[in-house]
Formats: sequence, structure tokens, C-alpha cells
Amino acid sequence: MSHCILLNADYSFMNMVDWRRALRLVVKNKVTVLRYSERWIKGAEGLVVRIPAVMKLIKLIRSVYRSRVPFSKRNILVRDGFACAYCGTRNGKMTIDHIIPRSRGGASTFENCVACCRPCNTRKGSRTPNEARMYLRGRPHQPTISEFLRLRLQRLGIHDFWEQLGLFE
Ligand SMILES: [Zn+2]
Repeated sequence: MSHCILLNADYSFMNMVDWRRALRLVVKNKVTVLRYSERWIKGAEGLVVRIPAVMKLIKLIRSVYRSRVPFSKRNILVRDGFACAYCGTRNGKMTIDHIIPRSRGGASTFENCVACCRPCNTRKGSRTPNEARMYLRGRPHQPTISEFLRLRLQRLGIHDFWEQLGLFE
């Protein structure tokens, strides 16, 4: 499966698209191809087409990518890289910890929830981090869509390539 990078008209990152969608965008004249991949596809009438690696939209799309990621357990784990916010482990099943416990009026928000391994969650119980003498490795924040897309690029292992293009803000 070959994926192409799709950029907005201002060169900001939009998404990864598969090669079929990429070719459709080329055919419809929606994109300029900035770089081609090494892959070729044979079309229906014997036509041979090279698959793009990086494409840029011709028309700027007012981006939804600066908007907020909706709150969910899954999205907390993605933001925290599936690592415990207290001890940093990635082992075992991750739970969600309310920093200020729910029983004390702590909200279910990105600012008050973090990924937490089971041992840390059990240890902390219904105490605040100070009371439990457990310290967060970072300050939890509300992520944006573009941040999530960036995380996805890292997981795909093409983050370096992306940086080489100098396209990260
Ligand atoms: Zn932990």
C-alpha cells in the first residue's frame, strides 16, 4: 500500500491519502505533484502512471486542522503516546487517570486526564498527584487535529522525510 502526502495550498500538512485517491486528485486537476514516488501503476488502457509521493492542493482549503480533537479515552492515549504520564512505561494496558479525581469534582477534559498504567493508577487511587507524591512528566493539554496528524506521520515512520522538506511549522 502506497501512501502520498497531501499538502494544503499553503504547504501545511493536510493528510495521508492512498494512491488511488491521489491519482483521482491528479486527474481532477485538484493538485500539483511536488515529488513522485518510485512506483508505477498500469491503468485500464495500458496507460502507465507514476504515483505521486507529495502533492499540494491548488486551491487553499480553510483548514479544520487547527480545530480541537474531541475528548475520548482513545484520544488521551494517542496524545500521550500510550505511555504512562507518571512513570513513562508503555507496558501493559493503559488506563485513564483523572488528575483531580472525579470524586473531588475533577472534570473529564484533556487538561485533567492522562494515560496511566494500572500500577500507577492503583497507587494514586482517589488522591491528587501531590497527596500521592506522584509527578506528571508533562502538562496535559488540549490537542489539535494537526498535532494528531503529525503523530500519525511519526508512527508511519516518515517523520524525518517530512522534516527534510522543512514543512513542519
Ligand atoms: Zn505508571
